[in-house]
Amino acid sequence: MSDNIAYLDLPAQIRGLRKELDAALARTLDNCSFCLGPDVAQFEKDFARYCDATQCVSFNSGTSALHVALKALNVGPGDEVITTPFTFVATSWAISYVGARPVYVDVDDATFNLDPALIERAITPKTKAILPVHLYGQPFDVDRILEICRKHKLPLVEDACQSHGAKYKGKVVGTFGEMSGFSFYPGKNLGACGEGGALVTNNSSYAARARALREHGSTVRYYHDEIGFNYRMEGFQGAVLGVKLKHLDDWTRERRRVAKRYTELLSNTPLQLPREPAFAESVWHLYVVRHPRRDELKKYLEENGIGCAVHYPIPLHLQKAYAHLGHKPGDFPVAEKAARECLSLPIYPELTDAQIGRVAETIKKFKF
Ligand SMILES: *Cc1c(COP(=O)(O)O)cnc(C)c1O
Repeated sequence: MSDNIAYLDLPAQIRGLRKELDAALARTLDNCSFCLGPDVAQFEKDFARYCDATQCVSFNSGTSALHVALKALNVGPGDEVITTPFTFVATSWAISYVGARPVYVDVDDATFNLDPALIERAITPKTKAILPVHLYGQPFDVDRILEICRKHKLPLVEDACQSHGAKYKGKVVGTFGEMSGFSFYPGKNLGACGEGGALVTNNSSYAARARALREHGSTVRYYHDEIGFNYRMEGFQGAVLGVKLKHLDDWTRERRRVAKRYTELLSNTPLQLPREPAFAESVWHLYVVRHPRRDELKKYLEENGIGCAVHYPIPLHLQKAYAHLGHKPGDFPVAEKAARECLSLPIYPELTDAQIGRVAETIKKFKF
């Protein structure tokens, strides 16, 4: 069908930027700064400013940035980190990579984000940090979680990998905690042409440690102060991200248009629609609806030429990789139900009102 609607249309975005990208990539070929380099340094400055932060340390992925954030807090073996079971697995990888244990707390049914009411009972003497996610582009309830952090003297690390520019009570996410991690995976709201990530903070000693850890644990070449990593951002990605960052606010505005339109058109259907809490201004990385017959609806939409996806089909506590934590079905019922019901509809800046209309019309013809 000619009017198929892709779940994600990256070629549409790249087409519009092609001239700018070609020039930026050519500059990298000319200056041969392939690992870090001037474009990466400039992007770090620009992204720090975008996040209203003093420091941005670029990485080769969001996973690496989160890993190093926990490392900079000296979280290690025997420690526990409180986090959400309903997210992309990399949130938990960061905890596992430092040798600590992810301690899951169930999510809130309305927002899919960590439920602040359940956090305190999960805190033990081993708890060393809280790592919630601004999921789908929507900020978690920052103040309620920060209050718990202060009371128990625990650092907050924000997983902002899906939430570039999302606002909590009017302020962009990324500096509410001690540090935050962003991802520039191509499908994210701000995506590289390859892998990329960033650690954002207002704390210059965390930033300095992160810079050293990113580069083999050194600040002076060939002198290694601690065991480090090769987590540098590539020069090409810095060049690409510098071009794309200039468009991010426009893209966010378009994503908000798409979400608003879906919400208007789908309000009279049996679907449970996403809602922005009063404190949040979402950047709509994903538009996730819910229905108990999700699998049938997904198959039906795909048969009718509409791409869709499931984020995420299995909560982390039930993943094989985390079997050693000893969880069983029923441990986090809200996350498990969300995993059964969630369906991500196409959402990207280039999606036209006509396409949104077709998605909505097709959904309305489903035999609910
Ligand atoms: C994408 C993502 C990550 C990991 O980012 P990468 O750049 O792919 O390593 C971490 N957490 C969440 C919530 C993500 O969506």
